[in-house]
Amino acid sequence: MVDRARLAENLEQVHRTIGGACERSGRCPEAVRLVAVTKTVGAEAVRALFELGQRDFGENRPRNGCGKVGALAEPEARWHFIGHLQRNKVKDVLPAFGTVHSLDSVRLARQMQRIAEEQDLQPTVLLEVNISGEASKHGIEAREAPGVADEVLQMDRLRLAGLMTMAPLVEDPEETRVHFRGLRTLRERLEHHTGEDLPELSMGMSNDYAVAIEEGATQVRVGSALFRGCIEAATEA
Ligand SMILES: *Cc1c(COP(=O)(O)O)cnc(C)c1O
Repeated sequence: MVDRARLAENLEQVHRTIGGACERSGRCPEAVRLVAVTKTVGAEAVRALFELGQRDFGENRPRNGCGKVGALAEPEARWHFIGHLQRNKVKDVLPAFGTVHSLDSVRLARQMQRIAEEQDLQPTVLLEVNISGEASKHGIEAREAPGVADEVLQMDRLRLAGLMTMAPLVEDPEETRVHFRGLRTLRERLEHHTGEDLPELSMGMSNDYAVAIEEGATQVRVGSALFRGCIEAATEA
């Protein structure tokens, strides 16, 4: 069961936080897309969010994710794949997800190009960059980005739209600012290097999305802040 009133409150709160961060940084709220990360909740919560007007949804696992895409079955919904993607799962993921935020190797890109051609698809892709350099993180290193971007730009089925990163988990969100700024700087360097527009910066999660927006995020991936209290409250009742 989903506490819909609480979910509506949380969604409103997230929009207020987005609005506040935009105001502080002189940005337009329409330039920031909220991707609701639904990996911890079921199809009922996805449906409830859709009915509240949410249109962008993110999942990090092929099986679970594809299940929820199928369960919602609304052509207006846009699905974002945000987790590590194995090459043998590309054929399942591409038909369901219009955007893949986690492109992290040329080998994966080649497989995506091949499957997209077979299935006549044109997925939008973001390069995942391990900007903080933490050993535990997926993503290419910043210094590899120009070479990988050059290769991906040659794959005619893939629309390279920008970059994605995950900041380290820290207590104080201010500490993530340097990483978000680093991704934005890298994006500028890549645009210069490739001569292409790379407008999208997918960065910021529940703990740090306000800081990410101040640093230029165009997509924030928010899960727990949306679902806090919605699912527990219902089971207790
Ligand atoms: C889970 C997840 C998120 C959302 O995290 P929250 O802290 O719940 O907002 C964002 N991005 C990725 C890649 C994730 O796996």
